[in-house]
Amino acid sequence: MTIKTKGQPYEIPRYSLTGDLLSFLECEIQYRFNSKGSMPPSTPVQRWFGDFIHGVMEVGFSEWKDGRLDLNNMDFEDTQRIAKIVAERLEDRGLHPYGSLYIKEDSGNNKRKDYNGNMIAHFSLSRWAPYLYPLINDNEVKMEDLRPMLGYGQGLSNSEYYAVQGIVDVISTFDVRKFQANNPLVKALMLKEEVSNLISNQDEYEIIIDYKGMERPPTDSDTWKHHEWQLNTYMWLRDQQIKAEGRKTPILAGVLLYLNELHLSKAAIERLQKVVNEGRTDLMPKEQDLHRLQNGNRFNESFRIKRSIRVVAYNPEQIQSSLEHFDNVVKCIESNLISEQSDSTDVWKHWTGKYSKDRCVACDLKTFCPHAKEGNFSIQVP
Ligand code: SF4
Repeated sequence: MTIKTKGQPYEIPRYSLTGDLLSFLECEIQYRFNSKGSMPPSTPVQRWFGDFIHGVMEVGFSEWKDGRLDLNNMDFEDTQRIAKIVAERLEDRGLHPYGSLYIKEDSGNNKRKDYNGNMIAHFSLSRWAPYLYPLINDNEVKMEDLRPMLGYGQGLSNSEYYAVQGIVDVISTFDVRKFQANNPLVKALMLKEEVSNLISNQDEYEIIIDYKGMERPPTDSDTWKHHEWQLNTYMWLRDQQIKAEGRKTPILAGVLLYLNELHLSKAAIERLQKVVNEGRTDLMPKEQDLHRLQNGNRFNESFRIKRSIRVVAYNPEQIQSSLEHFDNVVKCIESNLISEQSDSTDVWKHWTGKYSKDRCVACDLKTFCPHAKEGNFSIQVP
């Protein structure tokens, strides 16, 4: 009789949607060094702003729930008080903004209004919180589920599965009986044909909302596509969670709020001028707004709010396709890791992929990374 031996124990690899999969898609090498190689960036400006704007929306929500924030009478001082609480929490974690992005105090000379970080925090709270907070059922919802590991059995991974993890900023239960025609979020949902087609005789639906501390990406960019995969994967994860809880509430859509659209910086306006000239955005400005943009000015407020919302309707086929894309991303990461283990003398050759010039500018690795865009970054004395 042959006694079967047990295989080596292994842990199911866990992949976070934003921290791993989207980071890898932005730049494989940066992901390898910053996430897998415990070499965190020294001035993580992208991370600071993302954490800052998420923190502002969360602290605002908890203050409103506790009755400390009046959504209908919120002024600049209220929004800056909340922004300062978040900036100080980030400082405690060793995270600081670039000098020109945000200031905590201005000794009453209105300087804070010249800083984009201060203004985006102000507009995110004062324009979005009154519409969004009353719709929130749950915030910071953690989700995790298993996916089959591609490449298992072909020497690419020891694990038959991987765990995909996500933290959704907001889950909202949208009641079609209480349709709020003046709410821009509800309006954007109802105007999307694929979403309104999903509404049947059911009264309650869930929507998933995520904040992004960035501009609305051009529709032909990888980022635009990857954000859709992210929302679709969130919808799948939430679906699994709802089923596991024995509930039947259907999911209607995923929504991204591109909060930087509420107050575009000068550089962002220049980028958008180019994008609009080339017709690479789904929400093109018209008449007055086009004129404003051509003159280097910001849009009217209603169009800024409109551009900050992106809705992706619940669609099982699209969800399946997004999951398969991420399965392939995990397969690539696992195969790069195995390849590096087999020959660790030259890390660079195992991690390649796409990267953008903008990302290289703010990356600590640019002075020695052979893939840095244009390759002409020099070491600067601090
Ligand atoms: S310098 Fe550019 S290519 Fe190199 S790791 Fe950084 S972002 Fe990626």
